[in-house]
This record gives sequence, C-alpha cells and structure tokens, in this order.
Amino acid sequence: MSDDAGLQALREAARLSPDNLPLRQHLAGQLLAKGYLAAAEAEFRAALVLAPKNPDILAGLAEVFVRQSSYGEALAALEPLLATPGYPPRLGILAARALMGEGDMGRAGYRYFEAISRDASLADAELAARLTPAIAGSPRPTPPEATTAPQPLYAAPASHPSPADSATAEVERGGLTFADVAGMETVKEALRIKLLLPIQQPDLFAAYGKRAGGGVLLYGPPGAGKTHLARAAAGELGAAFVNVGLADILDMYVGSSERNLRATFDLARRNRPCVLFFDEVDALAARRSDMRQAHTRQLVNQFLAELDGVDQSANEGVLVLAATNAPWYVDAAFRRPGRLDQPVFVPPPDGAARAAILRILLRDKPLAEMDFDAVAKVTEHFVGADLKGVVDRAVEAKLQQSISAGRAIPLTTPDLLTAAKTVRPTAVREWMATARNYVMHANDSGAWDELMPWVKGKW
Ligand code: ADP
Repeated sequence: MSDDAGLQALREAARLSPDNLPLRQHLAGQLLAKGYLAAAEAEFRAALVLAPKNPDILAGLAEVFVRQSSYGEALAALEPLLATPGYPPRLGILAARALMGEGDMGRAGYRYFEAISRDASLADAELAARLTPAIAGSPRPTPPEATTAPQPLYAAPASHPSPADSATAEVERGGLTFADVAGMETVKEALRIKLLLPIQQPDLFAAYGKRAGGGVLLYGPPGAGKTHLARAAAGELGAAFVNVGLADILDMYVGSSERNLRATFDLARRNRPCVLFFDEVDALAARRSDMRQAHTRQLVNQFLAELDGVDQSANEGVLVLAATNAPWYVDAAFRRPGRLDQPVFVPPPDGAARAAILRILLRDKPLAEMDFDAVAKVTEHFVGADLKGVVDRAVEAKLQQSISAGRAIPLTTPDLLTAAKTVRPTAVREWMATARNYVMHANDSGAWDELMPWVKGKW
C-alpha cells in the first residue's frame, strides 16, 4: 500500500482527525476500491463506531465481507438494511452473492431477480448464469458471454425449452386441512367465504350474482404460515395444489418467464379444481411504475392477463392464492375485482396461537408431559417457522440421547425450553417496523388499514 501516496495522505488525515466520519468513510471506500480488504474492513468498523447504523458503512462492510468470502457476516450486516422499504437494489445483489456463498440458491435467486427488476443496470450475466440453473433445478444453456456492459436478458437461443414443457411446478394432492392450521380463525373464515363456500354452495352465491374464482393475496411476516395455510385450503377443498416458486417462473431469457407463467396456469387448469399458490409474488407482480425495463412489465401484464383468463370460464375451478412479505410492492392493478382482490393479513401468532402451533407440531412425537403455555411464553415474536425450528432442535437432541440410551426417551417441557434458547426468531419486529412505515405514510386508499392495530402494538 506504501506505493499509493493518495491513500497514505488520506490515512494520515484520518489519523489526525479520527472523528471525521466522512473522511473515514472515504478512506474505507478507497481501500475497498483498491482491494485492500483487511484495511478497508478495519476502517469501516472504525466508522461504524462513530455511526453505528449508517447504511452506507454497513453496505461497505458487507461488500468487504462478501469479497473475503465471509458470507454469514455479510448477511448479518445486510439484514437491517434489507428490512428497510425500498432499500437500494445493489444491496440485493450483494445479498444474492452472500446467500449463494452460503449455498442458499433459492433465496439468492429471489434477491437477485428482485434487485434487477428494480434496477436492470445491475444485471450480472455471470451471477445470473450461476443462479438460474440451480434455482430452476435443471441445467440450462449457458448464456453467451457478455462482451460489453452486462445485459439483463438475452434472446432465447434455439435450444431453449419450448412453451409446452416449461412448467416446472408440480401438482400435489391431499394431506393438510384447516385442522392442521393452528389459530388464524379470522384468516380461515375469510378464506372460507372467499374460496370454499362459493364452490361448496354455488346456488347460494349465484343467487347474489357472485361467481367462484379469483384470488386472495396473503401477506404478513415471513414464516407466519402463508404456504401452510394455502396448502391446507387446497386440502379443505379437495383440490389439487400447485406450489409455484420464483424459480419456476423467472428466467433470464426474453419471453421465457411469460411462457413459464402461462404453462403454470395451464397446468392448474388441467388439474381443476386446483389451488394455484404463488410464493413471493411481489417479485412477479411488482409495481410497473418501479420498473425501468419493458420486459419485466410484460411479465406483470401477462400475469394480469392469466388471472383475467381469455373468457369467463378459463379459470373456473382455479383458485389463485398468492403470498408476499411485501404487499406494498405489488402493483395495485392486482387488487381489482376478480384478481387478487382481497388482501388477507396472516399475522404472527399470539401466545395462545403459539401454544396451538406447538401442539400440532408435537402431536406425533413421544411426549412425557408438556406445558405448551410455558413454551409459548418464552417464544414471544416467534412465528410458525421458528417454532418448527425449536421442535426440530429438541427432537434432534432427544434422538441423540435416545440412541445413547438404547431406548426412546420422551420429550419434556425443559427440552423445548432449552431448544427455544438456541433459535433466533425470524425478523417479525423488523417486519412490523417496515409495515408501520407503509401503513402510516403510504397507505394508498386504505389498502393496509387491517394492519393498523398490529403496527401500533408493542413489538
Ligand atoms: P410462510 O409461507 O408464511 O413463510 P410457512 O407456511 O412456510 O410460512 O410456515 C413454516 C412452517 O411453520 C410450516 O411448514 C408449518 O410447519 C409451521 N406453521 C406455520 N404456521 C402454522 C400454523 N398456524 N399451524 C401449524 N403449523 C404452522
């Protein structure tokens, strides 16, 4: 580094005025740009002491970590930034790299595509190529080398899969019903009225001029049970269930995502009655005003067209449930009648609901005695997915003990209490803080009124 006089001067200046935040940040940025990662990390950390929550410093630090392959640390630095509404898309790309480093290709793909849907200039052909085959679950043709500035999308090569075979989602049948979903009585009731009754009692609904069909947007914090609920709704209805993830639809080739979407709707239509479930729908149905690229707008338009159907009967018996943690990013056109016209909030579980979820999760396990309420009490802010994590840990520990003892040892309350201490709850608090921002400051036509009492609560 001694050969770089400019850097030396900057370092000297920073040494002389250690509390000058802009100077330290500038120095850290320069060190990073020149690849002096250890020195950059030290400077970013020093700057962070002066301004602990500064997003630019956290982002810089995260970049250092990604380049040092310290992916867990990068994600920890990025976490609070990603929970902020409208976070800079470049942070999404960093998160994608870190998640990929951790082997979490699904979430990496989500972050990447979400980021480039907001800023296509961030598209990175190499990253996309590494993500797409993994998240699509099947090998894809290698995209042409980017010779100039990275291009977001490529024209599909001749060898690309034809539209007929492009649906990768699978049809599931049977299994869960609403009895497997603890609590959520208001949510279940809303789904019963919207989805189940029109099919179970068509005459009654016809008498009031209502048709079955259309969809529901389930929204709420991650892990609160949206997917579980959708699957149970299908079982309750005796319908097939098609679980569509982003990886089943998004494709870097122009036109392919639209074809995948159509094929997925067709798959549901061939299996009616069918619940077609779209997870992370905000990435497929993002506000068109947020998009710079015509091709991403096309996907949204195609989605709207599929929801409307070519004629009245096209979607008969196809119920669309879509889930999102970020309903405010969904284009308002989706909320028109006959589309995802009913947003339904899936809340984090309260104490009684947590105890009920634990009962369901533990019902086939060997139990000695179990004080479900005690476990519910120490798991405040835990959602269903977190509770499942607690049960899995406790079961694992018990299994080990049982193997050593040579007999099945039943689970007890202390086992669950111990496991609960080792599980970090998902970011419900952060989610509520984000939701509060939208409800208070961007509550377009009262769309998020239902959230008001929740975000005003104590988190
Ligand atoms: P989301 O789709 O909202 O991110 P999931 O549906 O994937 O959350 O929930 C994760 C897991 O948590 C489910 O597979 C299920 O085992 C458990 N779970 C969540 N909510 C409930 C509930 N109300 N009753 C029973 N189990 C639940």
